[in-house]
Amino acid sequence: MTHSVFVAGRSEPGCSGVTADVVNPADGSIVARFPLADASDVDRAVAAARSAFPEWALAAPVERSSALLRLADRLSAREHEYAEVETLQTGKPIRLTTQFDVPGSIDNVTFFAGAARNLEGKAAAEWDGAHTSMIRREPVGVVGSIAPWNYPLQMAMWKVLPAIAAGNTIVLKPAEITPLTALMLAEDCSEAGLPPGVVNVVVGTGPEAGEALVAHPGVDMVSFTGSTPVGRRVMELATRGIKRVHLELGGKAPFVVFDDADLEAAVHGAVAASLINTGQDCTAATRAYVQRPLFDAFVAGVADLYARIRLGPPLDPATDLGPLVSLRQASRVAGFVDRARASGARVVTGGSAPGGDLAGGAYYLPTLIVDARQDSEIVREEVFGPVLVVLPFDGDDEGIALANDTIYGLAASAWTTNVYRALRAQREIRAGCVWINDHIPIVSEMPHGGFGQSGFGKDMSTYSFDEYTNVKHVSLDITGESRKPWHRTIFSSGA
Ligand code: NAD
Repeated sequence: MTHSVFVAGRSEPGCSGVTADVVNPADGSIVARFPLADASDVDRAVAAARSAFPEWALAAPVERSSALLRLADRLSAREHEYAEVETLQTGKPIRLTTQFDVPGSIDNVTFFAGAARNLEGKAAAEWDGAHTSMIRREPVGVVGSIAPWNYPLQMAMWKVLPAIAAGNTIVLKPAEITPLTALMLAEDCSEAGLPPGVVNVVVGTGPEAGEALVAHPGVDMVSFTGSTPVGRRVMELATRGIKRVHLELGGKAPFVVFDDADLEAAVHGAVAASLINTGQDCTAATRAYVQRPLFDAFVAGVADLYARIRLGPPLDPATDLGPLVSLRQASRVAGFVDRARASGARVVTGGSAPGGDLAGGAYYLPTLIVDARQDSEIVREEVFGPVLVVLPFDGDDEGIALANDTIYGLAASAWTTNVYRALRAQREIRAGCVWINDHIPIVSEMPHGGFGQSGFGKDMSTYSFDEYTNVKHVSLDITGESRKPWHRTIFSSGA
């Protein structure tokens, strides 16, 4: 039985009395079994975070930075173990976890170790000649964070690192189906010398532990990454306590290919960006709009590469595409494709689960869809699976308008060799990130966050400190006068 709560530097079982399993989606085997946390565990975790806060908030930046550098060393020493556990609990191919999830996470730790020493405000100045003004950036307090299952380790990092680098303490609730690497991270934070209570983890369900955390009076800020419907609920609950809210929600990224694009680059880019993490990526390419002269060649190119993708066991380094995270998610994806078909769209390739050795796992074939209507579910809703819809467009105005025809705005890409088209696309497409001639790469130094119903606030980069700090104005009288000129608004002359 695995522990499911990490509070004040100690691993403990959760108190709910309900047992949950972490299931390997490749074959249905049980990876771990643990008792779920409940609201009483959240109470203890918030109390630990509250009591650790005053000292951590006052710790010298170099102290916070040094702890993070030691954490990076611990993660590097265990990188294979992290990659394997991440693969077992999610079904991600081991190539992805060893080359992307784990090194990306370590890079994030070292970035925030540096950033912790670079929290800046405006220069002090005497704006009215009588006072010196200073800006302080202070931690918000106890952060309650909730993370999804698609990148369990990276999402835990994105939540924990900017929060603690800025001097906050945190209670993290990972997704209950993929909690193992977040629990490993909490233990490594402790081993790296982070004081007890700075990083706490509770693994419970969303409605129980998640809601208890968001609504907890001891939590000052809520940072949530997950779906838009749950984000709405989180925002409603947080509103009651007037808590600061940071939401990283769903996406439906457009992939706009103009007729002068490098076709080979666009085709390879679309395949990689739609299939990364089996399509369970909030920035994945999901809607390709291709200018009519390139449409047929683009569809044929993607179909050809999709057919060559190797589905297989996640631990096999030769596997390109693993299963979805669960049988439930696989059947959700199948439902979207079946309804698209029934509404008149055409499945060019894929559109079913594979048979043979993979039949028992949560696998689904790379699926390419054409002839869908712009207002259809498959074009508008987040599928979160290995599915790409391709639609044609004629003029440039139409391509950009179609890209923007969504409630989401997390990420997008435009493909062109014409600098003016590229400049127009990066300016006019409404999304938190616009790639030109690529789609997916992210770096620790640059912000990640949405427009529209993809949420608000930024993860990664020093922009994330805008979420995790309060700006304080300090004003010092420099005149030494007992009677200030502005007092005349109160006292009659001569008083
Ligand atoms: P989800 O919204 O179902 O769950 C996310 C987390 O919220 C989980 O930990 C879950 O237990 C918790 N939760 C569920 N109900 C809750 C409630 N009532 N109160 C509090 N917490 C609750 O999302 P998911 O299925 O785990 O993840 C996929 C979604 O996450 C997709 O929509 C994807 O786009 C989004 N996502 C967004 C980003 C981003 O940066 N914008 C990154 C990764 C994933």
